[in-house]
Amino acid sequence: MSDSNPPGQFSLNAEQHAIRDLALSFATGQLAPHALRWDRDKYFPRDVIRSSAALGFGGVCVAEDVGGSALSRLEGVLIYDSLATACPCIAGYFSVHNMVASVIDRFGTEQQRKQWLPRMCRFDLLGAYCLSEPSSGSDAAALSTRAVHDGGAYVLNGVKQFISGAGDADVYIVMARTGAPGPRGISAFIVEKGTEGLTFGPVEKKMGWNAQATRQVILEDVRVPAENLLGVEGTGFRIALSALDGGRLNIAACSLGGARTALGKAAAYLKERIAFGHPLAEFQALQFRLADMITELEVAQTFLWRAASALDAKESNAPILCAMAKRFVTDAGFDIANQALQLFGGYGYLTDYGIEKIVRDLRVHQILEGTNEIMRVIIARNLLDPR
Ligand SMILES: Cc1cc2nc3c(=O)[nH]c(=O)nc-3n(C[C@H](O)[C@H](O)[C@H](O)COP(=O)(O)OP(=O)(O)OC[C@H]3O[C@@H](n4cnc5c(N)ncnc54)[C@H](O)[C@@H]3O)c2cc1C
Repeated sequence: MSDSNPPGQFSLNAEQHAIRDLALSFATGQLAPHALRWDRDKYFPRDVIRSSAALGFGGVCVAEDVGGSALSRLEGVLIYDSLATACPCIAGYFSVHNMVASVIDRFGTEQQRKQWLPRMCRFDLLGAYCLSEPSSGSDAAALSTRAVHDGGAYVLNGVKQFISGAGDADVYIVMARTGAPGPRGISAFIVEKGTEGLTFGPVEKKMGWNAQATRQVILEDVRVPAENLLGVEGTGFRIALSALDGGRLNIAACSLGGARTALGKAAAYLKERIAFGHPLAEFQALQFRLADMITELEVAQTFLWRAASALDAKESNAPILCAMAKRFVTDAGFDIANQALQLFGGYGYLTDYGIEKIVRDLRVHQILEGTNEIMRVIIARNLLDPR
């Protein structure tokens, strides 16, 4: 981790600029030229993702002793933002994988860390995070997948819904019930692809995020060794929520990067496109639109950096700030991208211009990692009933 900036400082230090430049260069060279094709063909670019391991993107916030980059949350945000300028969907998968790696790093035993993380940091193994179920999304603590202790193993049965990377991923963090109803009856397990009884549903057809599969994860009498329990029984929900603090920052960063590209494309287009004898950029109504869009983007970035810094500093209100950032930045990012599409007129609706993909990709950021309504529930609860 580089020296953190003093509180109140809103600029990046030299090392953070270098991290961002590295990610931007990878995004521009390796992701951007292919993003539209991957979206069209629903192609998951595993090899390209793996090639970024040399840059340290396989274990962004993971400790160095197991091959991680040990970067701060703020530095992670810079990376996901930069990757998303090329493809919010693939940047989103980097976020999911890293969320899983960070969970094992933070809550795993030494044996678990050494067993999984070096290969995850090299992207030899990919991660998936399995909390949602067909009947419990927002109300995740009501999950019904069961894990029963049986000798030296746990036997898991249940279905996980909407799992990003399912089928392609190798390491599944599965939240399952080992005890009574409610959050304290939930435990977290590491389940390896190939374990008998672990299968996947068909690839879901969806509006965006097409370059990574979303599938059900189906567990039928899946026996996992007792050593694959993360933490102790009953702490799985706390682990799941704590992972989401960072995940929410990352997904917000993916919205920021997508919106940044959409705005850049729109500004360039307004200078080229002639209507009524003038470039569109000369119409003040459209200039004002651009001015508002870039202002929103800057506000969103500033607040996201604030929330990330709070998580780095382990401030007690960091989870609330992460929820606020997720809500605000993903809403702002979608609005900016959608307005950029409008500024392109009919061409914005055509696939080749690359704007409609950004709008489709950013739309789901308002839903996953906890919907933006659930972010408001968290924020309002804290305001009305602080603990
Ligand atoms: C493409 C994609 C990828 C995903 N990837 C993953 C993944 O990798 N791992 C994973 O575990 N999950 C994943 N999810 C699931 C995602 O986190 C859930 O879809 C989300 O949490 C919402 O749950 P739900 O779909 O069951 O909606 P519901 O919980 O049924 O909610 C329906 C609507 O009601 C609203 N609502 C619910 N409760 C309240 C309330 N108390 N107050 C106000 N409004 C409320 C919601 O905001 C929403 O608008 C993914 C989803 C998608 C679409």
